[in-house]
Amino acid sequence: MKKVKAKKHLGQHFLEDLNIAENIVNLLEFKNETILEIGPGMGVLTQFLVKKNIDFEVIELDRESVFYLRLNYPKLKIIEGDFLKINISEIYTKPMSLIGNFPYNISSQILFKAFENRNTITEVVGMFQKEVAERIASLKGKKKGILSVLLQAFYNIEYCFTVDEYVFNPPPKVKSGVIKLVRNTRKKLDCDEKLFIQIVKTGYNQRRKTLRNSLKSFSLEPNSEIDILLQKRAEQLDVEDFIKLTQHVEKKRNK
Ligand code: SAH
Repeated sequence: MKKVKAKKHLGQHFLEDLNIAENIVNLLEFKNETILEIGPGMGVLTQFLVKKNIDFEVIELDRESVFYLRLNYPKLKIIEGDFLKINISEIYTKPMSLIGNFPYNISSQILFKAFENRNTITEVVGMFQKEVAERIASLKGKKKGILSVLLQAFYNIEYCFTVDEYVFNPPPKVKSGVIKLVRNTRKKLDCDEKLFIQIVKTGYNQRRKTLRNSLKSFSLEPNSEIDILLQKRAEQLDVEDFIKLTQHVEKKRNK
């Protein structure tokens, strides 16, 4: 059967190493009854997932890949479309898992969508550009970013393994990293969530500055407790620290 021609604009790099594909699939805990694979391409992960006794479906944007999958996996449930456009909470009413060798051009958007639907998407196993995977999983330091903090608030995140370029066709320019996110027990933040996101974003937008400078617009009143935090830079703070800062701003606003 003719293979799918890799298209750059869809971020298509097809994994050819079956051991790696099986290892990725086995990272799932199979606690959720429903699993959605994003961007199956020619089905390198799909072939292992269809063997499991689960409610499983795939979403693929590329018509040529959908055609290929229909021929090779006649029973497979395929949503032909764009993952970024589907309404998760309308389609899925029970906790579900996401898996995929994700299209790298939309990896942040996929993760942000998981964050927004965190009570439905309780597990994510996926391959990203190595740098992105490391950033999401990193707890402290230069690699950390806005999405790391937001996701770490609600998921336990593990960097699982690195994948070399040459196991893909065509090989990407960079190495890849596989990570696993599992929803933690936190129901909600102990502060105003919108304000929390705003503070994290503002802090990271000027990440070289100390928070005292980058968060100037919030007119934080220094007190002994948050003074230590304000001397640091955004990347040095963890989720709890950002919650503390948010609570401080809230208190001041309610005065
Ligand atoms: N999982 C396959 C293919 C990875 S390449 C493998 O490992 O070999 C990424 C895949 O995501 C491609 O098949 C591409 O067509 C698909 N894709 C890209 N953007 C998408 C989107 N917005 N929604 C769903 N699938 C998408």
